[in-house]
Amino acid sequence: MSVVVFVEVKNKVSKAAMEAVYYGSQLGSVTVVTYGDTSEEILKELGNYGAENILVCRSLNESNDQALTNLIVAAVEKTNAEFVVLAQDQTGKGVGPRISAKLNAGHISGAIDLPETSNGFVVKTNVYSGKAIAHVALHSAKKVISILPNSLAPQLNQKDANLEEFSPDLGTFGIKVKELKSQGDGVPLPEAELVVSAGRGLKGPENWGIVEDLADVLGATTACSRPVADIGWRPHHEHVGQTGVAIRPNLYIAAGISGAIQHLAGVNGSKVIVVINTDPEAPFFKAADYGIVGDAFEVLPRLTEAVKKFSASQN
Ligand SMILES: Cc1cc2nc3c(=O)[nH]c(=O)nc-3n(C[C@H](O)[C@H](O)[C@H](O)COP(=O)(O)OP(=O)(O)OC[C@H]3O[C@@H](n4cnc5c(N)ncnc54)[C@H](O)[C@@H]3O)c2cc1C
Repeated sequence: MSVVVFVEVKNKVSKAAMEAVYYGSQLGSVTVVTYGDTSEEILKELGNYGAENILVCRSLNESNDQALTNLIVAAVEKTNAEFVVLAQDQTGKGVGPRISAKLNAGHISGAIDLPETSNGFVVKTNVYSGKAIAHVALHSAKKVISILPNSLAPQLNQKDANLEEFSPDLGTFGIKVKELKSQGDGVPLPEAELVVSAGRGLKGPENWGIVEDLADVLGATTACSRPVADIGWRPHHEHVGQTGVAIRPNLYIAAGISGAIQHLAGVNGSKVIVVINTDPEAPFFKAADYGIVGDAFEVLPRLTEAVKKFSASQN
């Protein structure tokens, strides 16, 4: 079975790329398609997760949905692939539906597990803002699967990947990406395994030092509730929830966040949730694995100190 996996690789292979390649390798023989000027050495690391062939389009240097759609479709035609696998990230959300329309393929958006194939081809996805799981059967000859980041642990599946320059006709497209701004060097929220988040209970942007200190010692990414981003205390890319980023970290620490349903919608896929709130009736405690009824201004620094002590004792 031939599988095309689309990944974006910049300075290093992201976890989302590892997940997509590993997922593809569980379906068949993987040809990765990618673009840009990333070094051969970095691209060949995809072989660690099961890539057998890598097609790289050097002439394309921008994350342009229309161009990428044509690139991926060309890779499917070249390899006669039955499956296309990609991450359900910002690019995947734009490209996935376009590819399925062009290939007349069924599309699973936001897969959270490998397919069940004992009776057809059935993939699990989150629905109703993560409150339920749908088992979706695909009957089409070609299948497009977008994977929700952090849904599975990519295993090593060593292959000696062969790299090939790929320059199909990408056609003309009406979108031009003028500028891409980086959100910094940290782990992006959708891929983060550890997240420290805070809400309006922190009272003001000047108090975020205690959130960042805990995130630093844990090696975590910071997040926030929506009003905090709306007021401008924190940048919008940190806003998690129904209308923000949906995350599935191993650990989500939430301080001074009430736990409104719209917030929970984006974080309830977290494996362990720790809630710090002064109000014992805060709704978030119902969704928490561990709850601390206390003042974030006292609890966060104490957690930071405890993590520092623990780390020191391990050295
Ligand atoms: C259509 C729609 C979409 C929305 N989408 C989102 C979304 O994507 N994400 C999102 O987050 N929200 C979203 N919201 C807003 C959501 O309904 C809540 O209003 C919001 O999540 C509340 O943010 P908060 O918990 O930071 O603030 P508050 O509701 O003001 O809660 C602050 C909490 O901090 C606690 N607190 C106060 N002082 C301290 C202290 N010193 N130490 C510890 N705890 C303290 C309080 O007890 C309280 O529980 C959406 C709303 C709508 C209508």
